[in-house]
Amino acid sequence: GATIGILGGGQLGRMLALAAAPLGYRVHVYAPDAELVAGDVAAAVTRAAWDDAAALDRFAAAVDVITYEFENVPVATVERLAALKPVRPGVAALRVAQDRMIEKRFVAGLGGRPAPFAAVDSLAGLHAALADVGTPAILKTRRLGYDGKGQVRIGSADEAGAAWAAVAGAPCVLEGYVAFAAEFSILVARCPGGAEVHYPAAENVHRGGILSESHVPAGAAVAACMAEATALTVRIADALDYVGVLACEFFACAEGPLFNEMAPRVHNSGHWTQDGALTSQFEQHVRAICGLPLGPVTMRVPRVRMENLLGDTADRWPALLADPAAKLHLYGKSEAAEGRKMGHVNFL
Ligand code: ATP
Ligand code: MG
Ligand code: MG
Repeated sequence: GATIGILGGGQLGRMLALAAAPLGYRVHVYAPDAELVAGDVAAAVTRAAWDDAAALDRFAAAVDVITYEFENVPVATVERLAALKPVRPGVAALRVAQDRMIEKRFVAGLGGRPAPFAAVDSLAGLHAALADVGTPAILKTRRLGYDGKGQVRIGSADEAGAAWAAVAGAPCVLEGYVAFAAEFSILVARCPGGAEVHYPAAENVHRGGILSESHVPAGAAVAACMAEATALTVRIADALDYVGVLACEFFACAEGPLFNEMAPRVHNSGHWTQDGALTSQFEQHVRAICGLPLGPVTMRVPRVRMENLLGDTADRWPALLADPAAKLHLYGKSEAAEGRKMGHVNFL
């Protein structure tokens, strides 16, 4: 069988590896991290820095196709690998998704509607952006943010100095605060030839900037925005000649869907598909990057609720295991730090 190379060693890579096995693929994980939960279930592991040229070349030689489960893999790393083996999704998607400014401009160019935004590179620039965008607003670092990290809420212009200090002078984007009715995500899977499927929208509930729950089917506010958001997500995938699963996050508003951000990979809000859809997002991604036909996205049950297990939740596992409607997924991480994603549960 062929070997899939995965860049990144977290739970998304672990679940990709688990989905690859029944289709006969081996997985080789490459990442610099000390703890590689994806490595636990992989046939091979390379623990090396992103800029270790010799290790990258050996990795490329050992695999047939390469994907990433983490969008902050350096572009130079992926460019080196792409000269040796197919990398799916490609470097274009990575470049766009690594920088919130580039991403918003790109999506706006395709007819998407982000919240009002402005680039911020200085305290003076922040004041100008606040005058332009208005308050309340959110200042976000352009790069490297996740789970709400690197973000500061700004209620009024006199909070600008503290906000600028909080992001430590990193290049930022200021976004208008959206009074949304609901949040949701659209997951599209696209093949090398352009064939695509999309899952039903997931309605997402965040707490403290971290995804807490996803509900499928979504409620009425999301349903009203779904067609436009799905069409945009497909346009984004087409424009990037994307291969694999692409996730886009949206705010459902009275005036329609506002684009929040994209993730060029399988996504936490798609975990419900493991138990709730005929083809999980992980199997779908493997099918797409390996050139197999895509699978059905039909739901297995009328409703699914995915709940993230953050921090130490071990006291809940016995009850979850005893609940016939609950499917427990644990990632095997050693340190249950507060707010850390340790697992999730799908309620069918
Ligand atoms: P992820 O872990 O999804 O990658 P992230 O750190 O990239 O998260 P965002 O998706 O930008 O962060 O924001 C996290 C959450 O904060 C959003 O899901 C939403 O609940 C809230 N949020 C972000 N931007 C806005 C906004 N402009 N208006 C209102 N709420 C917002
Ligand atoms: Mg993000
Ligand atoms: Mg997000």
